[in-house]
Amino acid sequence: MAATGVVARDVIQAWGRILAGYRPNLSVEITKECPLQCPGCYAYGDSHLGGDVTLRGLSDFRGQELIERFMALIDGHRPLHVSIVGGEPLVRYRELGVILPQLAARGIHTQLVTSAVRPIPVEWAQLERLQIVVSIDGLQPEHDARRTPATYDRILKHIVGHQITVHCTVTRQQARQEGYLEQFLRMWQDNPHTRLIWVSLYTPQRGEISAERLTSTDRARVIADLRRLRLQIPKLQMLDGMLNVYARPPQSPEDCVFAQTTTCVSSDFERRIMPCQFGGDPDCNNCGCIASAGLEAIGRHRLKGGLQVGRIFYASLHVGRAVSRLRSNGTRDGLRAAEERSSA
Ligand code: SF4
Ligand code: SF4
Repeated sequence: MAATGVVARDVIQAWGRILAGYRPNLSVEITKECPLQCPGCYAYGDSHLGGDVTLRGLSDFRGQELIERFMALIDGHRPLHVSIVGGEPLVRYRELGVILPQLAARGIHTQLVTSAVRPIPVEWAQLERLQIVVSIDGLQPEHDARRTPATYDRILKHIVGHQITVHCTVTRQQARQEGYLEQFLRMWQDNPHTRLIWVSLYTPQRGEISAERLTSTDRARVIADLRRLRLQIPKLQMLDGMLNVYARPPQSPEDCVFAQTTTCVSSDFERRIMPCQFGGDPDCNNCGCIASAGLEAIGRHRLKGGLQVGRIFYASLHVGRAVSRLRSNGTRDGLRAAEERSSA
């Protein structure tokens, strides 16, 4: 019951932000640097930022400048929820040591997505509303081959003292090995430093041909496995509604609650990543993003009387856009009036 109350409160808060013309979620690529070279990494893909520049070619910040610019971004967007991604956020762990407590003090829910390639400062475990999400793509042999130097040995050392969310993105290589996913889930269920386990499905770009891409048969099998395993593995947080979204993803970014409520910003803090955190031209029909599935599941939920939450949400989005236009017109008018006053 408590969890339902929290979710309801979060939805109402997010709804308020949408009506006021703000997007409640902000995702920030805090750095362009990463010591890993994962196959299938979308952040370093050629089309991630629209094609004219790649993440490695963009500027990024460090030190006091990063802290100030990051907090200015927060002031400008006033999000309820922030995802800090990369690159590898932990390459800026000193700056995060200042930023994360400030976000916690403001009551912002923060998700830090990391490979755990270096130690996660133990004092972060005390921060309220901070969720540390560690990307672990399969059992040790496959994970280490894909994600060295963020090997299992390092992860197991670096998460001590924390309660992490394990995040696995299932690729075709894993999907085709009988019992692989179950073995992975049971292993992390037994780790005392795991709080939750999330499973995404690899999301390709449209027209992508790659070793990671799942076929529709692969997807159906993984979804069926997750439906069965969620009843046996308590830390696996995959609600039925989310699995329904994996089975029938949004048709386009316009139909995607996540894309419509999240502003994604790259490492220069100016470049927007469109239409969602994947950038480029993502294949929505094969989306397997857990964040998208979670919000979409809320959007498809029917209230008493049969009305879908999503219907209310899209109507609110129209209102919010009008409010946002009025606000920016008002700001422009205000600036113009101030200029006229100062030149008079
Ligand atoms: S850790 Fe993330 S950003 Fe770095 S290469 Fe791997 S997928 Fe890309
Ligand atoms: S790829 Fe997924 S998260 Fe991105 S817009 Fe499409 S459905 Fe939404």
